[in-house]
Amino acid sequence: MNQPVPLVDLRAQMAEVKDAVGADILQALETAGFIGGPQVSAFEAEYADYVGVKHCVGVGNGTDAVEFALRALGVDRDDEVIVPANTFIATAEAVRRAGATPVFVDVDDESLLVSPLEVSKALTRRTKAIVPVHLYGRLADVEAIAHVAPGIPVVEDAAQSQGARRDGRVSGSFGRVAATSFYPGKNLGAAGDAGAVTTDDDEMARRLRSLTNHGSAKKYVHDELGFNSRLDAVQAIALRHKLRRLDAWNAARRSIAERYHEMLSGVEDVRLPETGVGDAHVWHLYVVRVPHRDTVLERLNAAGIGAALHYPVPVHLTAPFAACADGPGSFPVAEQAAGEILSLPMYPHLTPAQQEQVVDALVAALAS
Ligand SMILES: *Cc1c(COP(=O)(O)O)cnc(C)c1O
Repeated sequence: MNQPVPLVDLRAQMAEVKDAVGADILQALETAGFIGGPQVSAFEAEYADYVGVKHCVGVGNGTDAVEFALRALGVDRDDEVIVPANTFIATAEAVRRAGATPVFVDVDDESLLVSPLEVSKALTRRTKAIVPVHLYGRLADVEAIAHVAPGIPVVEDAAQSQGARRDGRVSGSFGRVAATSFYPGKNLGAAGDAGAVTTDDDEMARRLRSLTNHGSAKKYVHDELGFNSRLDAVQAIALRHKLRRLDAWNAARRSIAERYHEMLSGVEDVRLPETGVGDAHVWHLYVVRVPHRDTVLERLNAAGIGAALHYPVPVHLTAPFAACADGPGSFPVAEQAAGEILSLPMYPHLTPAQQEQVVDALVAALAS
């Protein structure tokens, strides 16, 4: 019997950095600098530099990052914010938590990313921002969105796309402002919850610093109602060591995706994910589409393959957001895809032998 193949294996990643991270954490414990401090400032500077923007503001998690990016733009009650129907629920939660109404739009059938055409149809006088999501590690077509919605600020949800590039530009540098998550399973993951907002805009960065720190630029001077959502030293230490490996890990993901592509090209009934022209996709997830998906998933899991669904229910059909759309049939592409998508194991340390095991199990699961 083969060993199981998990969907992700974070232990191999951590093993590469564990000693260095441990040593730095011990030192941080000795100096008792837990919130903010030199490690946090250093990571913020290094990540801003990596993305190619002036500012990175560390926050407590990725959902907060999206919410604060919207708040910093001035998004408020009575505003509408356009989001794709196919995303993790956090994108829409953040819009609601900022007080605004999420306006869902359908996705493109090939990329499963937000469709610029659908964005253009959803614009109203109340549209205050658009949140394209670089889902699965592939960059959304931010340029086309900016073209159909001139003057409407774009807030990237870059939680699944750290290091993705198009024509040399890095994920997190395309919008007026971008939000990312360093949840441990993301391409750049912390040792707990963490996130960040990146922007080139000085005023926006100033607003973000204040919002995330009790509405205060100066200690005990509170200019507005704020929040407590900050990056801590332990997370910054883990992130600094992993950031140095991010490009190599993303390159490993790309090789794995290419190998899946070769191995699965001849397999009938499997629709493979594609890469955009000029894009360096970072394959946060490797999502194929298959018929009889639920049966295939069940058989794969029974064979020890950690396949999963991202995401089984489009956001507009989840209970908290049901009132934001007209139920089933609202977004046919996202709804159809939700019944066909299947995420196969994907992480930098996945071996060719494990991939063969996945492909063999998939071929067997597809045979009726
Ligand atoms: C993970 C994720 C988030 C939220 O990040 P958390 O750190 O879990 O709050 C937001 N959007 C997308 C697309 C994500 O994948």
